[in-house]
Amino acid sequence: MIPDYLAEALGEVAADTTGETAGYIPELATADPERLGAAFAMVDGEVYGAGDIDTAFTIQSISKPFVYALALSDRGFDQVLAKVGVEPSGEAFNEISLESGTGRPLNPMINAGAITTHSLAGPEGLQPTQRVERITDGLSAFAGRRLKMDESVHASEMEHAHRNLAIAHMLGSHGVLTGDVRAVVDGYIRQCSLLVTARDLAVMAATLANRGVNPLSGERVVPEPVVRQVLSVMFSCGMYDAAGDWATQVGIPAKSGVAGGLIGALPGQIGIATFSPRLDSHGNSVRGVSLFERFSSDMGLHVMEVP
Ligand code: GLU
Repeated sequence: MIPDYLAEALGEVAADTTGETAGYIPELATADPERLGAAFAMVDGEVYGAGDIDTAFTIQSISKPFVYALALSDRGFDQVLAKVGVEPSGEAFNEISLESGTGRPLNPMINAGAITTHSLAGPEGLQPTQRVERITDGLSAFAGRRLKMDESVHASEMEHAHRNLAIAHMLGSHGVLTGDVRAVVDGYIRQCSLLVTARDLAVMAATLANRGVNPLSGERVVPEPVVRQVLSVMFSCGMYDAAGDWATQVGIPAKSGVAGGLIGALPGQIGIATFSPRLDSHGNSVRGVSLFERFSSDMGLHVMEVP
């Protein structure tokens, strides 16, 4: 039944060909724009899907909440919060801005915060390659299988990383980042280049929905208080500068990425993932947003609604 429902939902949004694939990373611009898939992972370990749920694409910004979770687990709340705030920015993901007064990035979902969060994953003193390994291990634990990196997307993005490098240098000038800031950006872009499928993303979201325990492997990936923090930040800041619209209309903690992935995690219930590469002007997947609007209203998933 659920696969039929999903297939029907995909059929309804398939005709919408508005939006564009991400143009600022040449390797992403060449993605097949017609790909379309959706997967549900329940907290009891059942996974359902329809369409392209086993097509690999790069995780991009959907890595941000998971790496935030790893940083909080590895370094503790105080150390992370001293460097990255939790205030929605209302700005685009790659805005070059910091909180006035403190000099911290506003939140871990915009690039300034995510680059800082990347630097806080793993214990202090790790080499950049070890940090990338810690992140690959951690995100693989969320997915329940070993994730690989797309080297060509990484290389392509590094060639056009001026903006992220500018952000990192600004963070360096405020003392938020220390050491080799170029190596931090390289590691952050490697993190964004991990390959996932919609099925993987649904399981990763379900691990958040399941209090930090992967429902397939049974492994506790991060502690429960970390999950609460991550879901709260996803709710207020996860959808770029469309976070307010999303919170009111869909009402599910969520995160999107520029390769066309979109996840939502409903505590105690379900992890949802969609994949469709064409993006709207905020950088969110056009058909992904339509699917989530539909899932939320059909199944009464808005967290502010009494079930
Ligand atoms: N790697 C991308 C960047 O930092 C991620 C952007 C995204 O998915 O929003 O520009």
